[in-house]
Amino acid sequence: MVTLCAVGCATSRTGVAPARPTTAPARAPLQLSIVYPGPTDVVQAHDSCFLFGAVRGGAGPVTLSVNGTPVRVFANGAWIAWLPLPDDTLAVFRLVARADGDSALQDWTARIAPRFRPPAGRAAWIDTTSFAPAGTVALPLGEGIRLAVRAAPGATVWLRLPWGAAIPFLPDTLPGEPAWGVRAFATVTAAYRLPPAADRYVAWLPAAALCPDGKAACATLEVIAGRDTATARWPLSVGLVDLTFPSVVVLNDDTAHVGTTDSLTPGKAVPWGTYNWFFPTGTTSVLSGRWNDQVRLQLSQHAVAWVNASDVVPLPAGTPPARGVVGSVRLEPGPAAVTLRVPLPGKLPFQVTEQERSLTLRVYGAGSDINWMQYGRTDPLVTRMSYAQPTADEVTITLDLARRVWGYRTRFDGRDLLLEVRRPPQVDPERPLRGRTIVLDPGHPPLGAKGPTGLWEPVATLAVASKAKTLLEQAGATALLTRTDSTPLELFARTHFAELHDADVLVSIHANALPDGVNPFVNNGTSVYYFHPRSVALARALDVALVAELGVRDLGMGRGDYALVRPTWMPAALTEGLFIMLPEQEALLLSDEGQARYARGVVRGIEAFLRERAQEP
Ligand SMILES: [Zn+2]
Repeated sequence: MVTLCAVGCATSRTGVAPARPTTAPARAPLQLSIVYPGPTDVVQAHDSCFLFGAVRGGAGPVTLSVNGTPVRVFANGAWIAWLPLPDDTLAVFRLVARADGDSALQDWTARIAPRFRPPAGRAAWIDTTSFAPAGTVALPLGEGIRLAVRAAPGATVWLRLPWGAAIPFLPDTLPGEPAWGVRAFATVTAAYRLPPAADRYVAWLPAAALCPDGKAACATLEVIAGRDTATARWPLSVGLVDLTFPSVVVLNDDTAHVGTTDSLTPGKAVPWGTYNWFFPTGTTSVLSGRWNDQVRLQLSQHAVAWVNASDVVPLPAGTPPARGVVGSVRLEPGPAAVTLRVPLPGKLPFQVTEQERSLTLRVYGAGSDINWMQYGRTDPLVTRMSYAQPTADEVTITLDLARRVWGYRTRFDGRDLLLEVRRPPQVDPERPLRGRTIVLDPGHPPLGAKGPTGLWEPVATLAVASKAKTLLEQAGATALLTRTDSTPLELFARTHFAELHDADVLVSIHANALPDGVNPFVNNGTSVYYFHPRSVALARALDVALVAELGVRDLGMGRGDYALVRPTWMPAALTEGLFIMLPEQEALLLSDEGQARYARGVVRGIEAFLRERAQEP
């Protein structure tokens, strides 16, 4: 993909360079490097994209232009450009760098993701890449499927079914959807308002057996525009799920027995949605639908969750669902935690939700027979237990706490479900870090972003974490790093490490990068992410401290579905202190001083969080 310059580079040196003292270092010729988009990258934007890299060598001030647009070159040679893209699958960028008596030229070809183009000369057309859903779906009879497709605007659109019926499509009158990167990373998303999509159509398909083998008796989409008609087979096969004799499944996210997972299967409210439940291995449930590689579990009469089909193992046909009652519960106080023991009829699905000073356990598929709620030895942490039966087959048990939630975890013990409520540490308000165990996670590898001069995120995060470790130890804390070298480490190993060491706080350190299509000059700065409510105060304190240290724009904190902030045993946050792809922020990540500032921000943020907790009544 790289066209190295044949002419024009490293030229015109003779006769221009003045005589130099012999002690001067040899001047290297000007060299251009492009880090992004690399030869294997496919740009996913269509309007504009960023390019970044570095200019090396040369003497005196260096100027750079890309396709004639001047681009600022920083002292270390780093640069980033934001440029319009052609309406094509290839973009050629001409880079010209000049320095004192030297120049370099390079034509760089970037690949752009192809997009559908309506056929020329046709009034009726169908974007055959836009069928949603496509693939294999199975649902109980009577449910329906929302269909969406892109086709010629202003057309009459029908789905013709093999048994003679036809379903009408209506235009989707809502504006188009901006790319997810814009929603997630742009500082002002209102600027991305899109016009209504005149070429999008929607319809409702009641679930009925359709196209069972993916070939015979399928549905056909018909688009009529003027005197032109386009047709295409809708690539969807629909099956029916029988709930009269339900299929019972058991969850196991480690069916390959590699033993490197957290033994939790995440559940989503919609296929491929964000994580909303975390079911331990061994949980059983009833299967009530399939959507390609997603399986729907019927948790109770009114609750469903979608999980990865690869985490679902069918039990022998005829296995009855684990229905029954939740029995009397008991608190068991221990040195590090107070444990709630909940007798269940089987490994039923459940969910724990936290509020500031309470935890609620919801058990699906059971009724309450909680005759007794025993507090065991009188313990100050749990002030009150209560239960409710919000629906016929869901039971909730709420523990009110004397202190704000620090952490909790769950596990099955035979048929009993155990909910361990962690005792908050005794924090010294004068020296909040003294005696605390802090786990720092230097983000990546595997993966990790790269900066214009080639700085790799894992290198920067390890340097920052090592400096923060020293500062934490000076303040009297035990500081542990999830990795101390460049060996790749999976996400589960990192959170497992923090839990194994009973970390009081877990902070994962990263450097940010933008997805394609988002302008890097106006969308950059410091942000911090959390997942569970107990970590909000930690994320806020880290964000305040990092902004004060780093002096870049405050993008604020956010809730993010990241593995490193999902552990339940301790408050956890993930810092995106700087954007590695911006020259001045990459320079901070490269320098001792910048790394020290990032490290100080992390340590001061943790300290401020602990101090606030120490002052809790
Ligand atoms: Zn990262």
